[in-house]
Amino acid sequence: MNAAKVLDTLKLRFPNEPEYHQAVEEVLATIEEEYNKHPEFDKANLIERLCIPDRVYQFRVTWVDDKGNVQTNMGYRVQHNNAIGPYKGGIRFHSSVNLSILKFLAFEQTFKNSLTTLPMGGGKGGSDFSPRGKSNGEVMRFIQSFMLELWRHIGPETDVPAGDIGVGGREVGFMFGMYKKLTREFTGTFTGKGREFGGSLIRPEATGYGNIYFLMEMLKMKGTDLKGKVCTISGSGNVAQYTAEKVLELGGKVVTMSDSDGYIYDPAGIDKEKLDYIMELKNVYRGRIREYADKYGCKYVEGAKPWGEKCDIALPSATQNELNGDHARELVANGCMAVSEGANMPSTPEAIKVFQDAKILYAPGKAANAGGVSVSGLEMTQNSIKLSWSEKEVDDKLKDIMKSIHEACVQYGTEADGYVNYVKGANVAGFMKVAKAMMAQGIL
Ligand code: NDP
Repeated sequence: MNAAKVLDTLKLRFPNEPEYHQAVEEVLATIEEEYNKHPEFDKANLIERLCIPDRVYQFRVTWVDDKGNVQTNMGYRVQHNNAIGPYKGGIRFHSSVNLSILKFLAFEQTFKNSLTTLPMGGGKGGSDFSPRGKSNGEVMRFIQSFMLELWRHIGPETDVPAGDIGVGGREVGFMFGMYKKLTREFTGTFTGKGREFGGSLIRPEATGYGNIYFLMEMLKMKGTDLKGKVCTISGSGNVAQYTAEKVLELGGKVVTMSDSDGYIYDPAGIDKEKLDYIMELKNVYRGRIREYADKYGCKYVEGAKPWGEKCDIALPSATQNELNGDHARELVANGCMAVSEGANMPSTPEAIKVFQDAKILYAPGKAANAGGVSVSGLEMTQNSIKLSWSEKEVDDKLKDIMKSIHEACVQYGTEADGYVNYVKGANVAGFMKVAKAMMAQGIL
């Protein structure tokens, strides 16, 4: 394989999909050497078959808003690869959603799911519908219409969606309800469900907690931990909230959180009581992060990211490409020692290079945020055996999985000077398992 040539061909065949190209480029650059040790891979044109999704569904979603106006949105499901298990990956509802973003997410998900040690393929879906500012009734009517198309393409052994940006417990509940109504079956086709109807304990917490478990493994290699460390977090949604919760529990200090309008900086630290306020503000009242600054009298910066604030550890937990080269240089100059990604692809390629050149700890989302999908996999298992595990059982399994992902990264990503290139480690480890499964299953 010549990575540059493969990428050029994909760019020609699928133009105007920059996020998809960016995700593919990062993986190809790191697996090229390993791939080329296996001439049988190239003979089977494995790389193109792995980069191009198995199939993509695209459909119109029509719904009626509270004023009686008929609205249309686009709905999508990208089924990327099911070599090692049913397609699995979240649904995103955000105005920015398009095919390029969902293709990048589904591609990344395939490698991430492979790393988890559980039998899950990769997929992703969503809509350019934004729940922000919509009433409960509007969200439900939109979702019921969305499901009128999606339900045909998913199932407990086919494709199992979950949440992502704009899709939390409320949205998964509405999707599951409509799916159940249409199929007349009660199955574990969604994960992230409510506890009363098959949801796993610890699933809401899993992505944030998992990221911190992964971070602790990285810090352990440096002979340190989280005690007294100042952390900057972006976002204030599901991932950011539980990342903050676990940082506090393990003795760290959280000084920033954000939303798409701006960030708050609280030098005294966001303690448990303040975090409870943020959870209520975001999950119940669906308010803006600036209200925190009004309540606690701290700094709020409109239209900016938190990466200029001094910290020991940065935990990007909002969205893709939210941390660029300039931000990365500021972080390094301010003494940041570790970056662990709760979000998917939050750091630009330039930012990643800055972190790696500075030899600081840097964990890409596909390794560090794999805890979410891992507990989704555990939810699938519990649904299959029709049993529920305790909080401790699930949390212990999550810890073990994050530890094993870290070990795989170290195994495949340690360089001659001892520096662990977690990007390479995660990509090569994730790739090899999927590649071997595809080879065994013939040319498809
Ligand atoms: P939520 O919708 O719960 O929260 C997203 C947060 O990010 C909100 O604070 C939101 O602000 C902010 N945000 C969203 N889009 C933008 C943007 N374009 N610019 C700036 N801020 C933005 O989503 P999650 O917490 O679930 O997801 C966050 C990230 O984590 C995503 O990258 C997702 O793919 C990834 N992830 C999530 C998993 C999960 O289990 N939920 C699993 C693995 C990864 P606002 O409220 O203003 O929109």
